Amino acid sequence: MDSESTEQWKEILTEEEYHILRERGTEPKFSGEYLDVWDDGTYRCAGCGAELFPSETKFEADHGWPSFFDAIEENIEYRRDSRHGMDRIEVVCAKCDGHLGHVFDDGPEPTGKRFCINSVALDFEREE
Ligand SMILES: [Zn+2]
Repeated sequence: MDSESTEQWKEILTEEEYHILRERGTEPKFSGEYLDVWDDGTYRCAGCGAELFPSETKFEADHGWPSFFDAIEENIEYRRDSRHGMDRIEVVCAKCDGHLGHVFDDGPEPTGKRFCINSVALDFEREE
C-alpha cells in the first residue's frame, strides 16, 4: 500500500479519512466514534489495516481523542512535528505512512505514554 498515489488513496478513503491520514489532519475534539468504545479487540489502521493498538492499552484520558498507553511498535513510526508552533512527536503507520496522531509523555503506567489518536485513522475489529 505504501506505493499508492494520491489518486488511489482518494478512491480508497473517505474524504475525512483522506484529510486525517494523508493530509495530517486532526478530527474535532470529542467527536471521534471510538472515544467511548471499551470493547475487546484490535484497533487497525483505517488506511491499510495494519494492527496498531490492542484494546487493553486504551484508557480514558479526557483529552478528546482515543488514548492508548502502548502500541504495536513494529507497525508504528515516530516523527518530529514542529507545525503549529509546537514541538510534538507525530505517530505514523509504518506500513502506509498514514498520519495517526501524536504521542505525549503524560500517560499512565507502565509506559508513561499517551498515544493521542484520531478515531478516523482507526478501524476497530471487535473480538467475538
Ligand atoms: Zn496504515
